[in-house]
Amino acid sequence: MHYSIFSILKEALRGHKGWKPAWRRAEPRPNYDVVIIGGGGHGLATAHYLSKVYGITNVAVLEKGWLGSGNIGRNTTIIRSNYLLDGNEPFYEFSLKLWESLEQDLNYNAMVSQRGILNLIHSDPQRDAFVRRGNAMRLNGADAELINTDQVKKIYPFLNFDNSRFPIQGGLLQRRGGTVRHDAVAWGYARAADSRGVDIIENCEVTGFIIKNNKISGLETTRGKISTKKVGCAVAGSSGIVMEKAGLKLPIESHVLQAFVTEGLKPVLSGVITFGAGHFYISQSDKGGLVFGGDIDGYNSYAQRGNLATMEDVCEGGMALMPMLGRAKLLRSWGGVMDMSMDGSPIIDHTDVNGLYFNGGWCYGGFKATPASGYCFAHLLATGSPHPTATHFRFDRFSRGFMIDEKGSGAQPNLH
Ligand SMILES: Cc1cc2nc3c(=O)[nH]c(=O)nc-3n(C[C@H](O)[C@H](O)[C@H](O)COP(=O)(O)OP(=O)(O)OC[C@H]3O[C@@H](n4cnc5c(N)ncnc54)[C@H](O)[C@@H]3O)c2cc1C
Repeated sequence: MHYSIFSILKEALRGHKGWKPAWRRAEPRPNYDVVIIGGGGHGLATAHYLSKVYGITNVAVLEKGWLGSGNIGRNTTIIRSNYLLDGNEPFYEFSLKLWESLEQDLNYNAMVSQRGILNLIHSDPQRDAFVRRGNAMRLNGADAELINTDQVKKIYPFLNFDNSRFPIQGGLLQRRGGTVRHDAVAWGYARAADSRGVDIIENCEVTGFIIKNNKISGLETTRGKISTKKVGCAVAGSSGIVMEKAGLKLPIESHVLQAFVTEGLKPVLSGVITFGAGHFYISQSDKGGLVFGGDIDGYNSYAQRGNLATMEDVCEGGMALMPMLGRAKLLRSWGGVMDMSMDGSPIIDHTDVNGLYFNGGWCYGGFKATPASGYCFAHLLATGSPHPTATHFRFDRFSRGFMIDEKGSGAQPNLH
């Protein structure tokens, strides 16, 4: 069913009785050309690009819960391409370009809103670092602007400019960054992939891999065995648990990250702001809630909830930047399980098992990566070789010493 102004008008006239489910409730079939484990953003995007760009439609996406139950429906919805390092920046810029045409590509309103992202500067060395990052962005075709304190004041006059510990000295602005409605991304990709014949199978947990002579031949699931010669695993925070079933140990740890939302307020924040003197980021949703977050909780966990100590820490960061935040009532908070890699950058690669491919290690940043991750993973699954923008995201970088340590914080997943 094509969505358009005409379909809305038509349905309005006939009492909205003609809308169809966005995707079929598919039953598992015995055999597929490709099976993707994980119906999050990355798994569904992979299925979409596999079917649309590479013409491979005999595909199943297996999701243990419901679509949107993982991090794709839990994140703080920020998209951007403001990275520094060679391995990262071209990939995230590719992703931002895909976001810009996503709604037309999917025929689905994902509320892509390029409202701008501003990284605040609080010291001279930080300005130097941001100038360097901005230049790296521009060299890769991304937009970046360095703005001064007066320019920041014009956009966000209510920030705490005179804080003696963290004075605001300007910011690095990426106007093309912004927010996207996170669960609509899952629904849009699911609908588009389904329309080309991809089976999206919810409530179907992968419980084991069938591997003979180091070659994948199928999967054990809670809904029976499925044969396939190609499996792509994109299960984010469950990466370690799932890949262990194939006998593989990953350079990834699972950690909890929390998000917070206040009561609905009148429009006050036009874009996304990040605090440069602590870890805090904030935007305002279209419903009016201030949506914010900060650091991960700092200990390994598979629980989709966090603790009060981190909540206090995040709110302190917010209050230092934007004291009026203290007047807003916090309505909701939740957690998601992050696949934190050892150098803070992702992996899109084949594994040592023939026919088994892996996509993970997205840390905090996997939402903005969703389109490019799906595109590059589909390319790898279809052609057997990495997409040109994802050539650095290999497993062997950890043995070859070619880390992509964007933050320069070393092999400490809890710090990335
Ligand atoms: C609080 C929070 C805030 C965030 N904010 C941002 C942000 O602002 N910007 C940004 O870029 N990124 C952000 N992220 C990160 C981003 O959400 C993730 O990196 C990204 O969503 C992970 O990819 P995914 O969507 O495929 O994951 P998920 O949606 O988690 O998908 C993985 C799926 O695999 C399924 N699965 C697991 N095991 C199995 C199994 N055995 N069989 C079948 N299915 C299985 C899970 O149920 C899940 O649905 C945030 C994350 C959190 C938690």
